[in-house]
Amino acid sequence: MSILPGRRQLEEVRSTNRALLLALARDLRVTTCPALAERSGLSRATAYVIVDELQRAGVLVEAGAGKSNGGRRPQLLRFAPRARFAVGVEMGERDLHTVLTDLDGTVLHRDVAVAQGTTPEPVLAAATASIARLVSRVPRQHVLGVGFAAPGLVDIESGVVHTAVGYEWGEVPLAALLGERTGFPVSVANRSKAAALGEYYSGAGVGARLLVYVYVGRGIAAGIVRDGTLDAGVNSSAGEIGHITIEPAGNLCDCGNRGCLHTLAAGAVLIAQARAQLRQEGGALLRERCGGTPERLTTVQLAEAARDGDDVARSVVQASGRYLGIAAASVINLFNPDRLILGGPLAAAGPVFLDAVREEARRRALAVPFSAVQICPSALGSDAGAIGAAALVLGHASDLLLQD
Ligand SMILES: [Zn+2]
Repeated sequence: MSILPGRRQLEEVRSTNRALLLALARDLRVTTCPALAERSGLSRATAYVIVDELQRAGVLVEAGAGKSNGGRRPQLLRFAPRARFAVGVEMGERDLHTVLTDLDGTVLHRDVAVAQGTTPEPVLAAATASIARLVSRVPRQHVLGVGFAAPGLVDIESGVVHTAVGYEWGEVPLAALLGERTGFPVSVANRSKAAALGEYYSGAGVGARLLVYVYVGRGIAAGIVRDGTLDAGVNSSAGEIGHITIEPAGNLCDCGNRGCLHTLAAGAVLIAQARAQLRQEGGALLRERCGGTPERLTTVQLAEAARDGDDVARSVVQASGRYLGIAAASVINLFNPDRLILGGPLAAAGPVFLDAVREEARRRALAVPFSAVQICPSALGSDAGAIGAAALVLGHASDLLLQD
């Protein structure tokens, strides 16, 4: 075996260095080549080669002369976020939510489409049409790629959706199928994992070292981002917090186990509890929100009524928050994160939900890991999954922008 690095290893090093300089330039906004070399620890020669590539791609543009440190005044370089774009699609519970972002992950345009069914074919058709509408708004060659945030268990490496309960998807090669139809490179991840990445990239998780994002809606699932990289476990299935056992002899869960967090704190259970309470008394506001028909009550209506002070909605949402806090305490003890972000419809209830989670987690987690964590709401709200899908593309923007 040769001890000299092969071509592949050299290309990997160059790719890592390029990603590092691009991330630095994005953080610094205006910089110089010597400053990028110094901050990155790369040699000036290496930094010059990469800066030249980024300038040719239009991602760094000249912006006058900087201050001299004795010698010639260095060229100032400005990061140009609109030099390239990414598309992110989230397959939501009812519709497809698609965004076009710049290199900062800032949403420039959005599109909402309803697929004519939940099997792969109508979802692919609706996604392809949405993507085409958004891409038509910018030069096509400046679009780096498409990210797709899918429900279920997704293999991030291959872009295959193994299973998506409730959608009856099995072994769908989504990245390949959507790539064929759109002509773009496609990355796929589970939607909670994508949302975690979105929050890290441009939401409530900016600067976090170890971030755990928990989606609470019809289901409960988490995504983990460590040092800016999605940590999805050995077969892309880390983060299934909804199936942590809370009550060993509890109700049967879709997964076959009993007493999972999902059976105690997720959308359908909360709706059932609220409906049962509405049959008795109280809940005037909640009753009004669902048009006097508890059978039509949605998780979003429940969360909003809790936020606006409805007694029935508050008690149901707080109970969910307490169960979530029990699971959060384990997550905090196990991972020692610095940020725990709560997203999805339930988080939209605001402090009534968040305070219940915080209080229960504080009571149950060990003091040292708890002291390091900030428990906060999602900053991206219902855009988190779609922006996160775009962030799947932006994460390797430095490689994609050289493939023009
Ligand atoms: Zn379960």
